[in-house]
Amino acid sequence: MNVGVLALQGDVREHARALGDLGVQASEVRLPKDLEDLQGLIIPGGESTTIGKLMVIFDMLEPIRQRIMAEEMAVWGTCAGMILLSKNVVGHTQPLLRVMNSTIQRNAFGSQVASFEADVPIAGIEGGPFPAVFIRAPLVEAVGPEVEVLARLPGDGSIVAIQEDLMLATAFHPEIVDDRRLHRHFLTVCARVDS
Ligand code: GLN
Repeated sequence: MNVGVLALQGDVREHARALGDLGVQASEVRLPKDLEDLQGLIIPGGESTTIGKLMVIFDMLEPIRQRIMAEEMAVWGTCAGMILLSKNVVGHTQPLLRVMNSTIQRNAFGSQVASFEADVPIAGIEGGPFPAVFIRAPLVEAVGPEVEVLARLPGDGSIVAIQEDLMLATAFHPEIVDDRRLHRHFLTVCARVDS
């Protein structure tokens, strides 16, 4: 299976290591030609404004959007990646892929010091709640009817994981914990491409 990690900024290596643990050698994606033959792309956490600007500079925004819209490639955005996949971001104008029917609130849980961990049950992920690490995390304020809510934060009920067909988005960082269940889930989504 050919899965890539968008390697413009953010925690690229951690995602590559997580995929490696599952026997998939991820490629680093920087240029449009790197998208060829990919069944899946991970857009990592980092700073969504920076990654978005670099996507414009490297001429990646349209090629990625087109492959997603043509369902030639699955995609998973974590944290900043979730922001970049959304159609709307409250109070910001920044380059976005605008492929998921979601409205996102950035830095929804406060500043860096407000980063936290929570055990979050995720629909379709067996084996108990997922150890979710939130770092200046966004939350999903609203979703369209085609979007499935996979997880809400216990307590305040904020939406923190969504899926829309071959597109997955999580507000937290599964790549920095040892639990590989979400990466495995994404690989099953990638396996649906071309089938
Ligand atoms: N706060 C960042 C943003 O708005 C996201 C943080 C992250 O990816 N950990 O882009």
